[in-house]
Amino acid sequence: MVEEVYRNIYRIGVALPGNPLRELNSYLIRGRDRDLLIDTGFRRPICQQMLEKGLSELGSDPSRRDVLVTHLHSDHCGMADLFAGPERHIYMSGVDLELFALSSDPSYSWDTRNYRFHEEGFPAALLEEVYATNPARTEKMPGVDHRFLPLKDGDVLRVGDYALETLLVPGHTPGNCMFYLRDQQVMFTGDHVLFDITPNITNWVSMRDSLGSYLDQLRRVRDLPVRLALPGHRKTGNYRDRVDAILAHHKRRLDEVLVILGDRPGLCGYDIAAEMRWKIRARSWEDFPPVQKWFAVGECMSHLDYHLVRGSIRCEKEGGLRRYYLTEE
Ligand SMILES: [Zn+2]
Repeated sequence: MVEEVYRNIYRIGVALPGNPLRELNSYLIRGRDRDLLIDTGFRRPICQQMLEKGLSELGSDPSRRDVLVTHLHSDHCGMADLFAGPERHIYMSGVDLELFALSSDPSYSWDTRNYRFHEEGFPAALLEEVYATNPARTEKMPGVDHRFLPLKDGDVLRVGDYALETLLVPGHTPGNCMFYLRDQQVMFTGDHVLFDITPNITNWVSMRDSLGSYLDQLRRVRDLPVRLALPGHRKTGNYRDRVDAILAHHKRRLDEVLVILGDRPGLCGYDIAAEMRWKIRARSWEDFPPVQKWFAVGECMSHLDYHLVRGSIRCEKEGGLRRYYLTEE
């Protein structure tokens, strides 16, 4: 499925079978000297075939194609190395590039990340199941090569008539980016702003308060004029209205956590997540697929961290578990 969404900008839908996100939006910008492909899909044969088909329909020549990724998640960067020409560039924020390189090193251990999940009461057997099947590990790009170039906030990439301005918006990942065509008021929102699904905000070892950062970055970009938003998944919509709706969503979520802890002080993250409301086709928390539980607990942790940093809750370590309590007035 290929469509022109703006002059010389094409959307290629890349299916993500079995994933609640359903599809990745890959965008190709056609320029005189080069093509720029934004985001790629998981490293999986079906994704590769779909993207190859879309690009050949558009007559895009790999030898003049660069790749730009919005962030390090495998559904966005999983095939970046396969779709950039051998002597071309692959752009990614310096922050995510460093993190990606670190996690690709054979000596890297996922234990640092697992540790917090254990402390939140996530059952060890479930965690093992999640790590065995998580596409973040199983369908990722193997590593970084000479073609990778780091981007920082404000960097501008030129393609044809367009100037893409890099907006570093940490939260969804530590080096998450959006790309802005200021003259045209077009925004590639990646996973910072999605329209019919809420971006997942989890905790990161390198971020003390990923949700606080995410919300700050939403407020920072809210008032930029955007006539067309091009998100990383699913449909587009009104940009500013959606930013406001996501801000309101997290306000409700943050309040919900306080209500749960008011009723049941001393819960761990795993049990708080079980009490929170989730938009998912499962009858109960017990029926959640393990990977979805992992996402939910991650999301819950970012909300707990937000409150911890602001002093509205406190955490006590008891028998290797983190237990949370409202702070007395
Ligand atoms: Zn993502």
